[in-house]
Amino acid sequence: MLFPTGHRGAATPTPVAPSTGRLTPLGLDQVRITGGPWARRQEVNATATLAHIEHWLEREGWLGNFDLAVSGGLAEGRRGREFSDSEVYKLLEAMAWELGRRPDDDLRGRFDAIVARVAAAQEPDGYLGTRFGRPGQQPRYTDLEWGHELYCQGHLFQAAAARARTGGTDDLLVQVARRSADHVCATFGPDGNQGVCGHAEVEVGLAELGRALGEPRYLAQAALFVERRGHGTLADIEFGRSYYQDDVPVRDAEVLHGHAVRANYLAAGAVDVAVETGDTGLLDAVAGQWARAQARRTYVTGGQGSHHQDEAFGDDWVLPPDRAYSETCASVGSVMVSWRLLLARGGVEHADAIERALTNVVATSPAHDGQSFFYANTLHQRVPAEHVADDVVSKRAEASLRAPWFEVSCCPPNVARTFASLAAYVATVDDAGVQLHQYTPAEIRAELPSGERVGLDVVTDYPADGRVEVRVVAVPAGDWTLTLRVPAWSASARVRVDDGVVREVGPGLVAVPGPRTGGVVVLDLDTAPRFVVPDPHIDAVRGCVAVQRGPEVLCLESVDLEGAGLGPAGGGPDGGVDDVVVDASVPPWEVDGVVYVRAGRRGAGAGAGDSGDTDGVGWPYATAADVEPAPRPELHDVPLVAYHDWANRGPATMRVWLPTL
Ligand SMILES: [Zn+2]
Repeated sequence: MLFPTGHRGAATPTPVAPSTGRLTPLGLDQVRITGGPWARRQEVNATATLAHIEHWLEREGWLGNFDLAVSGGLAEGRRGREFSDSEVYKLLEAMAWELGRRPDDDLRGRFDAIVARVAAAQEPDGYLGTRFGRPGQQPRYTDLEWGHELYCQGHLFQAAAARARTGGTDDLLVQVARRSADHVCATFGPDGNQGVCGHAEVEVGLAELGRALGEPRYLAQAALFVERRGHGTLADIEFGRSYYQDDVPVRDAEVLHGHAVRANYLAAGAVDVAVETGDTGLLDAVAGQWARAQARRTYVTGGQGSHHQDEAFGDDWVLPPDRAYSETCASVGSVMVSWRLLLARGGVEHADAIERALTNVVATSPAHDGQSFFYANTLHQRVPAEHVADDVVSKRAEASLRAPWFEVSCCPPNVARTFASLAAYVATVDDAGVQLHQYTPAEIRAELPSGERVGLDVVTDYPADGRVEVRVVAVPAGDWTLTLRVPAWSASARVRVDDGVVREVGPGLVAVPGPRTGGVVVLDLDTAPRFVVPDPHIDAVRGCVAVQRGPEVLCLESVDLEGAGLGPAGGGPDGGVDDVVVDASVPPWEVDGVVYVRAGRRGAGAGAGDSGDTDGVGWPYATAADVEPAPRPELHDVPLVAYHDWANRGPATMRVWLPTL
């Protein structure tokens, strides 16, 4: 890979390009993922997932809605939910990043064809949407609570920002988005409609389009939307105004709350606004909300949102594993927020959070073939789910196995756009040098703010192996520093430069001053499997342990029980994994890449007197004094699998948190 030439700054082919901040992002032309799990994900995304999504958008008529807008048949013929346009835009964004990753004439043709259909549906004043405002349809902006009109246009803006940065600002999609953004500014400006959209997204879309096109009006409109929210302009609904974060102004909120995707998208937009306007109060507020949500409202997987009913964050510590909603999109949103805070402030905790969410939620959603997806990501599956046929549309989070498509299909294209732009999250630069945040085989050909260049080749089997080798290909003329992240999960780590002394380092950032061209920096992380225990406040998993190996959270899947001597899969008094207990006095260990724990089946009636464990009748509570101590079960070596790999071997029960003996 050669050093990129030409533009930088706002035109950098990267999802977030702030004009200022602690760290500067790199573009897809500066970082290329060359191997390992993330490269495989990108390959499947490019060769299977994009076409899969396109097929379903066509089949379900969500693309056809744009054609109906032209032919005049929307009022009678429109298909899909009110936000279906946004899935088309997210696919376009994914395609735009993919085109930025590597030229592809076929993909380019498909991209252009979809853009042409979208463009044809745009109204003369710039409005773009298929659900409102046409003859026979409800008037525009008459249902800001649920209509998703600004939300959809926000995704159009993000797609256009991606295309502007990968294909240039002359692209038709960029022109369409510009007209749409001008319409939004004219309609919702300081003297216009004072409303906000029930689903945040237009804020982050306007901010990024404004950055990509150098258009301050779009940033100003994003700021207006951020400031307007929280003053009760949206209707009070059954979930309360907190559902759409209209209960308290963004700068006054103490924690991310309400619908978890909306909360994260809003926070991302608020960081963009804060950075561009120098509003440190707003930035402090969002950083604090992020930190508290991480500390008290996030699953061990990085997943967020424990309410099924309103897809929302629970109160602090409400993190039940078997009722985890943990929507894939909420973690895409959390990566968006964490990345923006990392660029603004540089904190290593943000890169840790990105790794956690990408590895254990975003990567969990798609099947290995990239053609079926989890919408919700439970941490405990008590009943084997039913296989979903590959031609069936599932309801939102109804499918407890991966499903090809959903009536609300936000997650698949969200995964696609994230995977296509994954290289952007690997490294950054600042005046001092290069910071490596995520570990994957990669080629980095970065330009420092000074214009000097640094070339690095990352060679590693991460996360299977904790050894990361950074080969220095080119360095700037003066002093420079390579900064490496030692993740919080790595209890110890060692750094060695060339044949020099080995330095022991702890979690955090490690500065390696001035590696020379031809040199090698080796980071050894401790990926040995280990037990993780929950904060005692998380009552739902008290007395349980999870197992983590490197960044990967592991789980027990019922299909592995029979081979481990714990009876047929689905057998045992409770069936499946529910009555398996772990001997926490024996640390997890690894043989040939497989992690094991010492575990057995809890005896019948071990918890309470007449518990109903054996025959499904009785009463599961007993007088404490009557409870006999549980007999010690026969223990076996039981293998675990990476949580992101679960349910790839057919229906199964599964749990991340394992009760201890
Ligand atoms: Zn979703």
